[in-house]
Amino acid sequence: MLDIVFSIFFCLYGIVIGSFLNVLILRIPLKESVTLTRSHCMSCGHILKWYELIPLFSYIFLGGKCRQCKSHITIQYPIVEAANGILYVIVYLACGISIEGILYCLCASALLALSVIDWRTKEIPVGFNIFIFILGLIRLITDFSNWHQYVIGLFAVSGFLYLLFLVTKGKAMGGGDIKLMATTGLLLGWQLVIVAFLLGCIIASIVHLALMAIKKVGRELAFGPYLSAGVFIAMIWGEQLVSWYLSMWATY
Ligand SMILES: [Zn+2]
Repeated sequence: MLDIVFSIFFCLYGIVIGSFLNVLILRIPLKESVTLTRSHCMSCGHILKWYELIPLFSYIFLGGKCRQCKSHITIQYPIVEAANGILYVIVYLACGISIEGILYCLCASALLALSVIDWRTKEIPVGFNIFIFILGLIRLITDFSNWHQYVIGLFAVSGFLYLLFLVTKGKAMGGGDIKLMATTGLLLGWQLVIVAFLLGCIIASIVHLALMAIKKVGRELAFGPYLSAGVFIAMIWGEQLVSWYLSMWATY
């Protein structure tokens, strides 16, 4: 019973944070101020009233259109809000109310926002990596007896990718992706960040090959969304995946 109450609470909280993520996603690539400008319609500049700013519900209530100029509001808003709500519930059910759970919720939000931006602009704004790095430092301080796990995590995948970057002269991997594997490595520890990277590569090859076949997209891929998916899965199910993998070896 308590689980359901807290799940609803985390979901609503996630939706509210999700609506802030939409502001970040929209304004960071345009270099617009995140806090100073009031929320406005992107086509006519109509300043939004409080009842047009309620996450998820306003979109449904307005029928997906601006009240003044009737231009369509992108479906990205409700999707990001709902997705962030769902991510928070998954983290809550996996970690409960703990420091780990809070850090993972915040990291999941950063991953969601940077994925959408990377998908659209092929770039990960450095602010997201700084944010995840700070989350990683908090993890390290609050779980200090395992500090070496996190410090090794900082370099485990990113060091390898940096070598690849040097050898291929920057063609194989973007700098933002390398930084993402460093900062999430600090947050997750070396075992889970390796799992995250492998999962990211698997998801990327499946999805991107499918997209190349269906939508004739080019070979160039934004790796951030796939790495982010890998990181999130590793955060929640990584421990099980590792022990399942090790137990397979133990039976031989
Ligand atoms: Zn408008």
